[in-house]
Amino acid sequence: MFLIGDNTLVTLDVVERFFCCDLDSCLGQCCIDGDAGAPVTQDELLKIKEILPEIWDDLLPRARQVIEQNGISYLDPEGELVTQILDNSNCVFSCYAPGGKCICAIEKAYREGRVNFMKPVSCALYPLRLKTLSNGNVAVNYHRWKICKSAEVLGRKKGIRVYQFLKEPLVRRFGELWYNELAANCELYIKQYLSDK
Ligand code: SF4
Repeated sequence: MFLIGDNTLVTLDVVERFFCCDLDSCLGQCCIDGDAGAPVTQDELLKIKEILPEIWDDLLPRARQVIEQNGISYLDPEGELVTQILDNSNCVFSCYAPGGKCICAIEKAYREGRVNFMKPVSCALYPLRLKTLSNGNVAVNYHRWKICKSAEVLGRKKGIRVYQFLKEPLVRRFGELWYNELAANCELYIKQYLSDK
């Protein structure tokens, strides 16, 4: 485990594992599977409420109904604020691209220049998950899920490790200095322990 900054404990999986999403293979299953929505902050919820009219027509008809009835978020059994989901499946903000790929309607609008918010940082950081510990430290853990097998295969093929693949959201969440410290630790670790892998 790396200690980065004052209080972030980062799993060695970020350097030992390879990862690169392969949407053509997985078809964006992470926006569908699972028993709860994506963790979201109060600030992110405000932002999503602001841009909701812009993405409304891209949402699934059932998602519009669910949002109208239950809002865009709820508290999961652990008391964490998460995005609303459809009948134990899709995130309400998911939509479908040609070829049946499930994508995020918020990210789609962002990439088309229609909104200035990309998507909740917890989604962008996946397969890393953050947990605030009782002493205030933040643990950065790797979540291994069989639906992402193709990302592990593609990452290994391309030589892209988790910390490299997630540079942008890690900078967004923790800042450039923090990321540079993490990257320096990872490079040293590769040199010392993984250079023959
Ligand atoms: S996180 Fe996993 S399921 Fe989601 S797009 Fe990447 S590889 Fe596919």
